[in-house]
Amino acid sequence: MNKRVLLLGAGGFIGSHLVEALSKKAIYSTTAVDLTKDKLDEILRPHIGVEFLQLDIAEDPERIGLLIQEHDLVVNMVAIANPGIYVQDPVSTFELDFTENMNIIRQCIKHQKRLIHFSTSEVYGKSPSIYQPDQAFYFDEDNSDLILGPVSKHRWIYASAKQLLDRVIHAYGLKDELDYTIIRPFNYVGPRIDFLPSEEEGFPRVFSFFMDALLYGKPLYLVNGGDQKRCYTYIKDATDAHLRIIENEGGSCSKQIFNIGSDENETSIEGLAKTMFHLYNTYFGRNASSNSTFESISGDEFYGEGYDDSDRRLPNSKKIRELTGWSPYYSLEAMLKETMGYYIARHENVVIQ
Ligand code: UDP
Repeated sequence: MNKRVLLLGAGGFIGSHLVEALSKKAIYSTTAVDLTKDKLDEILRPHIGVEFLQLDIAEDPERIGLLIQEHDLVVNMVAIANPGIYVQDPVSTFELDFTENMNIIRQCIKHQKRLIHFSTSEVYGKSPSIYQPDQAFYFDEDNSDLILGPVSKHRWIYASAKQLLDRVIHAYGLKDELDYTIIRPFNYVGPRIDFLPSEEEGFPRVFSFFMDALLYGKPLYLVNGGDQKRCYTYIKDATDAHLRIIENEGGSCSKQIFNIGSDENETSIEGLAKTMFHLYNTYFGRNASSNSTFESISGDEFYGEGYDDSDRRLPNSKKIRELTGWSPYYSLEAMLKETMGYYIARHENVVIQ
């Protein structure tokens, strides 16, 4: 019999790629739950054997409980995961990312279902490099300290909520009441990430801001100068890791926390802006507008009061590599070519129609 997988929050960026990958594996039957399915519409065809349920998990917790009972495995991707929203609406961030997530965890315990829970690399907060700038500190799932800023910097409400969930899940695991895997994504990028701010109101992640600036002839804003660093991971590589965790061969992923990210793809945000600008003009042969300049801006001015930042996020990804054989394939340049190509083609379609 097929393994029945319940994907909660399946309509987002990560979920849409996981649904697509699972639909190609005959051993799984998948139920995808979310408020909207715009991103799934790109990939869902009647024949692919995925059932989509349009549900608000906050409105219908009992239905969520029943669904959890009916499936073998739960993948929880329910979250607000954009820094702009943590700053603009910290209470909603907490309610969804903590309170509603707790209901999912409790139902998994009640019905004894394995839970794959999406945490975040943001739980690590700031790196110790802020105290010792000459050293590179790798975030280790089981040993690194988690360094968050003060309450007045309410950006950290997201990391605090997610961190407490990680601790709660771990604690239930200690009591042998929950079989789980926690995933900490390191800046995934790829088609269907977010939206472009010229086309929709709000604060997407940095890739979408820069892509938007290039397509619509606006400045590329470097928050607080753009020295902060991130390691980018292509969504296809990440999805390969997620599938290995779902497979859980020999139970190797049970009760583990995994960083999913490639330290080989580290760049400063200024470096990301310059690489995207360069690819836009050379690889894609387009002429960036003279308005697409690089402008430094303060975090409070860009996002609003309460913004603070992670200075550097370097994953130690030894554990996922050793326990599952995972190895990322895409370099930063390769993933930017793929992702920018998707958005440029989409933009041309919009303009032509
Ligand atoms: N950032 C930027 N310009 C933008 C948007 C974001 O310089 O137009 C910075 C942001 O301050 C952060 C980094 O880019 O330091 C990555 O931001 P993102 O929103 O992608 O997510 P994060 O990695 O902080 O969770």
